[in-house]
Amino acid sequence: MAAPLPRAFLSRMQAQLGSEFAGFLEALEAPPPTAVRLHPVKHSACQEFSDGVKWYTGGRYMDERPVFTLDPAFHAGAYYPQEASSMLVGTALQQWMPSGPLLALDLAAAPGGKSTLLAELLSTGSLLVANEVIRSRYQVLRHNLLKWGYPAVVTSNHDPRDFHGLEGLFDLVLLDAPCSGEGLFRKDSSSVEEWSSGHAQYCSLRQRRILSEALPLLRPGGLLLYSTCTYNPAENQEQVGWLQQNDMRLCPLQLDPAWGIVDTGRGYQCYPHRVAGEGFFLAVLRKEAGSGKGESAGGFPSERFQKISREEVAALEYWLDASLTWAGYRDRKGRYYALPQEVAQPAEELLGHLKRSRPLLELGQHKGNQFVPAAGLAFSLHLSKAVQRVELSRPDALRFLKKELPRLEQPHTGWGLASYTKLGIGWFKGLPNRINNYYPTAWRIRMDLP
Ligand code: SAM
Repeated sequence: MAAPLPRAFLSRMQAQLGSEFAGFLEALEAPPPTAVRLHPVKHSACQEFSDGVKWYTGGRYMDERPVFTLDPAFHAGAYYPQEASSMLVGTALQQWMPSGPLLALDLAAAPGGKSTLLAELLSTGSLLVANEVIRSRYQVLRHNLLKWGYPAVVTSNHDPRDFHGLEGLFDLVLLDAPCSGEGLFRKDSSSVEEWSSGHAQYCSLRQRRILSEALPLLRPGGLLLYSTCTYNPAENQEQVGWLQQNDMRLCPLQLDPAWGIVDTGRGYQCYPHRVAGEGFFLAVLRKEAGSGKGESAGGFPSERFQKISREEVAALEYWLDASLTWAGYRDRKGRYYALPQEVAQPAEELLGHLKRSRPLLELGQHKGNQFVPAAGLAFSLHLSKAVQRVELSRPDALRFLKKELPRLEQPHTGWGLASYTKLGIGWFKGLPNRINNYYPTAWRIRMDLP
């Protein structure tokens, strides 16, 4: 941690932590632990890890931070580098999320750590809406969710206020709020430089606004998960206090005292001197009153998406496995998308309402007389077994990800899925005299290979 810590922050933390303050300062001088969350299905491609994160089964620590960009398994979605404390969201979901199909909304979702966590924990028949207001971050969110490979996801690029009209619709809303970032001080020196009392106050006002937008979206009985990566009571416990005054009841978590997570009485706080992780705050609340779903303002088919016929879906089913029944859509640019049929109805309502939303799983589009598969389809957990896979060595997989030409042991004609340790990383096409690499330029590895 290079930048000196702000005086106002230090004096508040001293008052907050009392005799633990010296230990807290010492922890801030130590290197931050590196953790990843293993993909529940794809993780066999992962390298060796040291200890597990105590509060989430899929969490693992690494002895040192590798260059993730140089691991093809990272590009295939075998794991997600994620700060260990924030995996507490997984613990809370396991304890409080009702079983059965749910409609879940992650309101501030980029880059996607918690959305991918939700995607892996939601039961079959559930739909996740992953929303991010900042456009450049929205693209990163889509990429990370695509790598995670779950299909029952709609992504959207909206301000929370654009969800007006969807009141009472959601069973679960996660707000991992933009905050003053005090919990990231030792990991990210820019968060120290950006900190000021004024900015922290601005953050708490912004959080209150987003929470006021979020509450009406929940159905009565629905769950709100509210989290930040700060220690500031005005952004944490005071927000929870306000929620409690607004028909939200706090839900306790069962946490092993040996984990070191502090119960503040209004949510749970991770401190770096107590846990192997960064600063993080989480509260789970249940909506006690309010009204259910009203009339939706959305309309489908929308101008942006047309539902395609059973015959067209059948033609696209070459690319998808048959374990699910699919609903298919085409947008104005001719791109095809698929969603599991069981979530089509709520998904269509959302696609009709939110003008900058799309199903996550893009299949591809016709160009000339060929169907060009979408890049993200390569990662799908539901890619058809009929697709021809070509296994690449680690150096060849890295060359492929750099958008260089893959070296194939056998000649290949037509579309091929480049795979690494049996996990799809992207598409190539074998022509009589050459091979074309279809890995998107925006995703390609830019650094030099070792
Ligand atoms: N949940 C994410 C994850 O686990 O990867 C991290 C979310 S980050 C803490 C907060 C997000 O809120 C950022 O992506 C930021 O762009 C977004 N944000 C910023 N201003 C916002 C606003 N006014 N309303 C909603 N989201 C906002």
